[in-house]
Amino acid sequence: MSLGFKYNGTKKAFISHFSEGKWDEGYLTDNINIDISLLASALQYGQSAFEGLKAYRSKDNKILLFRPNENHKRFNRSLKRLVMPEMDYKKFINAIKLVVKENEELIPSFESKGALYIRPFVFGTESVLGVRPSNTYLFGIVASPVGSYFNNGFNTIKLMTSDYDRAAPNGLGSIKAGANYASSLYPKQIALESGFNDCLYLDPKTHTKLDETGATNIIGITNNNEFITPNSNTVLPSITNMSLQEIASDLLNLKVIKRDINLTELKNFKELGACGTAAILTPISLVQDKDIKYRFESSEILHKLYDLLQSIQFGLIKFKNDWVIEV
Ligand SMILES: *Cc1c(COP(=O)(O)O)cnc(C)c1O
Repeated sequence: MSLGFKYNGTKKAFISHFSEGKWDEGYLTDNINIDISLLASALQYGQSAFEGLKAYRSKDNKILLFRPNENHKRFNRSLKRLVMPEMDYKKFINAIKLVVKENEELIPSFESKGALYIRPFVFGTESVLGVRPSNTYLFGIVASPVGSYFNNGFNTIKLMTSDYDRAAPNGLGSIKAGANYASSLYPKQIALESGFNDCLYLDPKTHTKLDETGATNIIGITNNNEFITPNSNTVLPSITNMSLQEIASDLLNLKVIKRDINLTELKNFKELGACGTAAILTPISLVQDKDIKYRFESSEILHKLYDLLQSIQFGLIKFKNDWVIEV
């Protein structure tokens, strides 16, 4: 039975509160429901940001985290942009380790290829009516076992371009704000109803260049074996993508290029993939833009990249010193 990418329950969650200018110690709880003001800034004005990472069970039964320091850096960027209080690395990583340990028995087996998805988040809890940042916040972490995001493993997915945008130029696209997901719900619903797995969003300014999907970055492999990915400030900087770039260049000798990618360039790509913590690396077989279809028959290099990334994440091969840490 496949776990899929959904909430599959948890044993213990972590909650910490911010008030009068500082974060408290926090505590573990087996109840993920809380009392909250109907006027909380998160509920009324979307003052909410999150992170996503996974804990992996290695073959020799160690519990591994993949580059959590990068999640922490990005989390603080998101918090700052939404006028929410940042936190130091120690608080972030200690809370994650605590939650992972408390949920150890939920971590899928090495053989299953599943993982424990960890969701840290901060949102504003104070009652607001006029628009302003909250003075109180909740930092929470919920962890739950997951399988693959697009519910078909390494099967391919299909994307359609959209007239809608998930982010505005100079808006929130480069941070992990809940609001970006709110704006992606409707276009994704249209994509699903039209037989696609998600939208491929274009740059919101000109609608001619590739950005990303609702939850994953996009990478392409050209006919000359270049690894190419959009350089856009409305794309969320994916840690999976950053890692794949280093793997591609150091382990597969591919040339890595980050630049604007025109939609029409898709015809020059032999492989196209969607990457992120949840989706890992999922090959794309079709991008449909109005009545133009771009097809990708191969996923050979993406497959190699996927295997290398997963081997590093599950501790089968060592790559960079600080990428994998034991809980
Ligand atoms: C989280 C996210 C990603 C993937 O980032 P990772 O760090 O690789 O998990 C990609 N795009 C969007 C919009 C995201 O929210």
